[in-house]
Amino acid sequence: MRFASLGSGSEGNGLVVEAGDTRVLIDCGFGLRDTAARLGRLGLAPDSLAAILVTHEHSDHVGGVPAFAARHGIPVWATYGTLTAVSAKFEAVDRLYGFDSHDAFAVGDLEIRPFPVPHDAREPVQYVLGDGEHRLGVLTDVGVTTPCVESSLDACDALVLECNHCLDLLAASDYPYPLKQRIAGRLGHLHNEAAAELLTRIDTSRLRHVVAAHLSQQNNTPAKARAALAQALGCTPDWIGVADQATGFGWREI
Ligand SMILES: [Zn+2]
Ligand SMILES: [Zn+2]
Repeated sequence: MRFASLGSGSEGNGLVVEAGDTRVLIDCGFGLRDTAARLGRLGLAPDSLAAILVTHEHSDHVGGVPAFAARHGIPVWATYGTLTAVSAKFEAVDRLYGFDSHDAFAVGDLEIRPFPVPHDAREPVQYVLGDGEHRLGVLTDVGVTTPCVESSLDACDALVLECNHCLDLLAASDYPYPLKQRIAGRLGHLHNEAAAELLTRIDTSRLRHVVAAHLSQQNNTPAKARAALAQALGCTPDWIGVADQATGFGWREI
């Protein structure tokens, strides 16, 4: 298995995951041409994707999905709740598949296990993807962790983990108070220390990759995210990867 990011953050997200001959894209928050260019940087053609898996209806995750899926004839998978929220915008998509947030399914060689997360959307999920031998856990856009989140991410070989903000930077920022409340709330986004604490509560014995993702460009820094996760894992900060908004990150092999 291998995975790479097209970009990560509140201005757009996209994560490519590959096993054997199967390649899927989780979310697409970029425009048509931008998505093709970002895939091109990874050596991929748009029509090589077997599916787009959607996490939830916020525009940094679905903004580019309908146009890209319609143009390249790619099937789209989303929870029934997400489909309800996006139905008007997704009319041009030919193959739309709904699923319940607890139901696993397969796309080609990839086993896909969604799990529900607390976030201010209709039926938001995140994913664990596996090839039968190795597993990648993905967790962004989550206000707080839950026992379900923790058991889902237990013993993964790689994690892409939200480190949205530093609590002190968010508190000191000039964001309006209601927005600060939303971000830091139970249906908002995970801060560095909460992400670090999650790592201390799950089985990390198989971990070969940890990438911090969905960093706020105003209220966080890569160094702060790295330091928090490294302290939790007892590793050096440079071992922790960071997915950025402009370039994501390059291929990582599991
Ligand atoms: Zn987001
Ligand atoms: Zn969101």
